[in-house]
Amino acid sequence: MTDPGQRREELQANLDAVRHRIDGAARAAGRDPADVAIVVVTKFFPASDVRHLAELGITDVGENRHQEAQAKAAECADLGLRWHFIGGLQSNKAAAVASYADVVESVDRVKLVPGLQRGADAAGHRLDVLLQVSLDPPGADHRSGADPDRLPELAEAVAHAPALDLRGLMAVAPLGEEPARAFERLAGIHHELLRTHAGATVLSAGMSGDLEQAIAHGATHVRVGSAVLGPRPSVQ
Ligand SMILES: *Cc1c(COP(=O)(O)O)cnc(C)c1O
Repeated sequence: MTDPGQRREELQANLDAVRHRIDGAARAAGRDPADVAIVVVTKFFPASDVRHLAELGITDVGENRHQEAQAKAAECADLGLRWHFIGGLQSNKAAAVASYADVVESVDRVKLVPGLQRGADAAGHRLDVLLQVSLDPPGADHRSGADPDRLPELAEAVAHAPALDLRGLMAVAPLGEEPARAFERLAGIHHELLRTHAGATVLSAGMSGDLEQAIAHGATHVRVGSAVLGPRPSVQ
């Protein structure tokens, strides 16, 4: 077993490096680094790491699988963290996810809305929602995310759900395209959404490998896993 003190130092050093990258990218884009929030993606890593991260000042963590997220959120309930669900969501799990998540970033179809509404309502809290938009070229075999032309309908559905707050967009840069180009497109899509939903100001984009490009194109939240926690096990 690794020594907890040593693991904490390692996480601290990695976080410092990520914050340094965010600062540099924000300044290069003429933005205030304080306007870029870090969501540390803790999938595949134990609750003990989440605890270290909370002690190191992290307030927001992301998970992409329901069972793992639910267990970790329960184990870390005393830490007052904001839990972001960032993974593919089945509609029959939406209510359960809404019971412990503070933010669901991966809402990509109208069918998820009733379950999220029901789960948040039953838990007696409001739920922040980001719409996940696909940046794949039209006709590509989509990994996940709504086509940009479906966003108006999706945004309306979320906006009409009383327990849900539409906060913005989330996206992942597609494989096989320069992230900067994809994020430029994303900025345009976000701009369009803001015309009808002025409160949807969050743009969650950028991961360990491409956070600079995302910040250059307006990301307000970066979702960083491996650059903070180290490599994940390769079997996912
Ligand atoms: C795993 C994951 C991340 C973090 O990826 P890293 O490359 O490890 O930083 C970000 N966003 C989503 C949607 C993810 O599933």
